[in-house]
Amino acid sequence: KLDQFGSASSLPKLETETDGDGINVVVRVRPMNTKELEAKNQNVVKFPGSGQILLEGLNTFSSENGPKSKLFSFNVVFEPKASQNDVFNYSGIKKLVSMAVEGFNTTCFCYGQTGSGKTHTLTGPPGMFVRKKMDPFSPDHGLVYRSFLHLFQQLRDRTDVHFVLKASFLEIYNEKVIDLLNPGNRTSLSVRWSKKTRSFFVENLFTVDCEQLDDLQAVLEEGMKNRSVGSHNLNDCSGRSHTILTVHITSEQQMSDSSDVFITKQGKINFVDLAGSEMSKKTKSSGKTLTEANNINKSLMVLGYCISSLSDPKKRTGHIPYRDSKLTKLLADSLAGSGVTLMIACISPASSNVCETLNTLRYAARAKKIRTKPIIVMDPRETLIVSLKREIEALQKENEHL
Ligand code: ADP
Ligand code: MG
Repeated sequence: KLDQFGSASSLPKLETETDGDGINVVVRVRPMNTKELEAKNQNVVKFPGSGQILLEGLNTFSSENGPKSKLFSFNVVFEPKASQNDVFNYSGIKKLVSMAVEGFNTTCFCYGQTGSGKTHTLTGPPGMFVRKKMDPFSPDHGLVYRSFLHLFQQLRDRTDVHFVLKASFLEIYNEKVIDLLNPGNRTSLSVRWSKKTRSFFVENLFTVDCEQLDDLQAVLEEGMKNRSVGSHNLNDCSGRSHTILTVHITSEQQMSDSSDVFITKQGKINFVDLAGSEMSKKTKSSGKTLTEANNINKSLMVLGYCISSLSDPKKRTGHIPYRDSKLTKLLADSLAGSGVTLMIACISPASSNVCETLNTLRYAARAKKIRTKPIIVMDPRETLIVSLKREIEALQKENEHL
């Protein structure tokens, strides 16, 4: 409205035009593994068309009564032959990185049963960080490292803006928040509400300054090593724990050449490796309620509740139970719709997993219905200054026309 006189404003936009786009949901099917091949599992996943996935054998390999097969559509479907580079190029993660640079809260989360390829997709095959020094040219690198490279490329192109990067890496296990960058401290950190940013944050979490690519790489390596150390102690908890690696991107830009006002934007990208989706069912079948302390994976269950409420037009404006778990508190600003979210549903093609695969595809189909309206995160005072300046600019133009 303010730009009604034709020339575009040089001032930053306060909101994007990408309203109501919804969550971007893609599916990745991993290849059959040796165990599945040896057990002569059948392949129950077909790819009838672009973005489509057909799940077969439902009445043969599961106790579902109903149709033999189900067809789902998503933004993109990756077949088993897709490389790590293909997933990086076509999943939409590059756009997420660009939007984080622009000041949006962005999140990429991998969902699926244990062994379906979540960690592989995000960080690569097991042992990549544990045994040896990481090879920067390995084709096995997952989305996280590839995104780091892309991020630094983007920053190099923006010479007009001053950027500050910080990163953190945490694990949520049994509703305890553990700092993966501070292995000496295995006590649970508190999740608190910040009035200033109007979002939840983890108190006393190590947040490391990252001036160069090497620094982000070190964060990734350190966190992955500490995650695996923890899982040996806890009898392989990797299927039961969630990890969140966050890169905070603060940008400072002069409003115009002659101006003494600087616009600060605060974007971030979360990479979330969720616990195995089968954990949510185990929680339910244990017959315990959400309020009981020792449930198996409260965070995953609450995430499910939040997603099904947000995807239902009748419930989406009502109460969404973000506050009921650590994970959903930390992801609230992405799910609630002011952020930008990419969900990667990971599945196995094998007949022995058809029930879990069906659950994952149903969950992903629900997530696809969530509507979002992303906004850039700015200091409230600066937001006011920008909107007043925009008004002045519009009035000046109006004057010129009189
Ligand atoms: P999750 O994190 O979902 O439990 P993983 O990522 O650990 O599962 O994957 C289980 C195993 O399968 C790992 O050895 C992993 O390297 C392998 N794997 C998963 N996805 C792929 C893929 N797309 N291509 C090749 N191997 C894969
Ligand atoms: Mg994993």
